[in-house]
Amino acid sequence: MDFALTEEQMAVQKMVREFVAKEITPNAKQWDIEEKFPLNVWHKLGDLGVIGTAIPEDYEGSGMDYICHAIVAEELGYGCSSMRGSYSVNISLVAKTILKWGTAEQKQKYVPPIALGRSFGCYGLTEPDSGSNAAGMKSTAEKDGDYYVLSGNKMWITHADVSDVSIVFAKTDKNAGARGITAFLVDKETSGFTPQPIHEKIGLRAQDTGELIMDGARVHKDQMLGPEGKGFAVAMSALDNARYTVAAGCVGTAQAALDIAKNYARERIQFDKPIGGHQLVQQLIANMVMEIEMGRMLVWRAGWLKNQGAPNTRETCMAKYFCSEMVNRACFNAMQVLGGYSFSGEYPLERMYRDSRINTLYEGTSQIQQLIIGNAELGISAFV
Ligand SMILES: Cc1cc2nc3c(=O)[nH]c(=O)nc-3n(C[C@H](O)[C@H](O)[C@H](O)COP(=O)(O)OP(=O)(O)OC[C@H]3O[C@@H](n4cnc5c(N)ncnc54)[C@H](O)[C@@H]3O)c2cc1C
Repeated sequence: MDFALTEEQMAVQKMVREFVAKEITPNAKQWDIEEKFPLNVWHKLGDLGVIGTAIPEDYEGSGMDYICHAIVAEELGYGCSSMRGSYSVNISLVAKTILKWGTAEQKQKYVPPIALGRSFGCYGLTEPDSGSNAAGMKSTAEKDGDYYVLSGNKMWITHADVSDVSIVFAKTDKNAGARGITAFLVDKETSGFTPQPIHEKIGLRAQDTGELIMDGARVHKDQMLGPEGKGFAVAMSALDNARYTVAAGCVGTAQAALDIAKNYARERIQFDKPIGGHQLVQQLIANMVMEIEMGRMLVWRAGWLKNQGAPNTRETCMAKYFCSEMVNRACFNAMQVLGGYSFSGEYPLERMYRDSRINTLYEGTSQIQQLIIGNAELGISAFV
């Protein structure tokens, strides 16, 4: 067993860490206030090869491994969760899913511009009446000659309003449950396909979120992603990837919260000594350090399995479940260390606290992760 990073992994970590410190951390507050995604910074990340870190070189990526993928997500999560979220959606949910299920033409058309940071994608699974129970979706895709006609609404879709391509799931057979779902690639300009932005989120305010309204959107059969009726498998494989970078991003945000708390604990004087010298403050710090290390190890173990192409749904869910809960505890505890000063915009903790809340809710809630882990242990599905 070797816990050390390789030279390549350390080089990626150093490069992204320096970029985040210079270009992202100092500006994240303003992006949050303006609810504005910094496209220029995203383009710079694309030019550096960071966005395509885990995409094969044939598709304009850097062809690096899953540990490098996690390192990028962790470092982005350190500076700005909105930006880490865009990385997760573009690469984990969209590009990697097209690479796994797409035709040669689909891969060549959609993946390189995403890897270069010049195109955005989104993943439309959730609907107003179906979230955790994705198989209960109401959207339909009715065959009409060489086309499918999509109808229905998708809710809470990251990048809905800015995506050039959307992976959308709809029922081609309304009576077949999960086996009746098919995935489609829908181009932005498709008529009858309209995004509707959602504003005033409590967190991830720099990131676009919206609804997708499908009202008779005609999509050619060549735009089907994976076989007809295999959409649920496409959707779940995408989540296996995305939960991994969500977990890694949580580790990064928790690390940022810890670093702020450590600096403050050394400087703030109460009862004639730095508060870091009080045992109960050290307890808060110690718990944060321990849980961050635990989270990082869970992420890297899932990445180690992914590198070998081994099954990893259980391990990825464990990493996502633990890290998403852990980052909320870390932000809470870091705020405790800063006392009243944490409650203002003077420190970035208030934004981290707000941004972190989403992690136990999306990509499968904590309860859904527990049910997947429970099923893996018991061999009994709680979903049926
Ligand atoms: C900012 C944001 C971005 C998002 N981005 C995307 C995106 O890009 N693409 C996309 O498709 N979706 C996206 N989502 C949607 C997100 O994945 C869903 O909100 C999530 O899956 C939960 O679904 P729901 O909100 O309908 O909650 P529900 O499924 O209604 O769950 C409500 C509560 O019931 C619990 N529950 C449900 N079923 C069970 C069960 N069987 N056992 C125990 N407890 C259960 C849940 O854990 C939860 O606590 C996003 C959401 C947000 C807020």
